[in-house]
Amino acid sequence: MTKHAVGQITVQRIVESICTDFDALRFFPETTAQDWAQHSDWLAPRAYHPDTGKLVLTIQAFLVQTRHHTIVVDTCVGDHKPREKRPFWHMLKLNTFLPRLAQAGVTPENVDYVMCTHLHPDHVGWNTQLIDGHWVPTFPNAKYIFSDLEWNNFEALHQRKPQDHITDSILPVIEAGQVQTVRNDFALDDEVWLEPSPGHTPGHVCVHLASQGKHAVITGDCIHSPVQCVEPAGSCVLTWTRRSPTPHGWVFWNAIATPT
Ligand SMILES: [Zn+2]
Repeated sequence: MTKHAVGQITVQRIVESICTDFDALRFFPETTAQDWAQHSDWLAPRAYHPDTGKLVLTIQAFLVQTRHHTIVVDTCVGDHKPREKRPFWHMLKLNTFLPRLAQAGVTPENVDYVMCTHLHPDHVGWNTQLIDGHWVPTFPNAKYIFSDLEWNNFEALHQRKPQDHITDSILPVIEAGQVQTVRNDFALDDEVWLEPSPGHTPGHVCVHLASQGKHAVITGDCIHSPVQCVEPAGSCVLTWTRRSPTPHGWVFWNAIATPT
């Protein structure tokens, strides 16, 4: 498993699965087949399948280890979760996430922070796991950091229309007293902080890492495909595209679609 260094911070990808269920033209409704053809030589096969027109999306968490903290950013889809609206994520029994975390040298007990860029089902799944018929926090010693704006919006949505992923992946960690809701510019310390990036969801945040003059940004669902780095004006039905120029030398992790 590759360990990427950002100064004294290390970042490892914990890949749960590779998703090839989303059609590129429906995902990015302003694009045409011709647009994709222009980029397919470098996007295929890791980020796009020209034969099927499907995106290749990596469902992954990021394990961030600083001198002080062991942090998991985003927790994928999860196993045994009822997701009837997304049949390809419904009642999975992949058993990939925790073994790959172990391969990276970390047990759930070692994790002291879990950060979710936003509260969609594919970013909160392993917040909890099914033990003896109950959803319990996967990371028993962790504080789970959610944007207060994001939680307020999803809590209101859940009250209007109950959401399975709130029931099984958010409420159990709140009930366990492990959630800390924070402002969208919350700083854990001088190496790890949140940056507001609303659009995909109202309280979406990116996680900014900085150490010894090096920077990386975990972009959550601000970026779904590396093509958005070269076509930043394109919009996606699901995402808000960052229009400001990419600061030189920064690494945008979610733009790196590299199946393991
Ligand atoms: Zn999302």
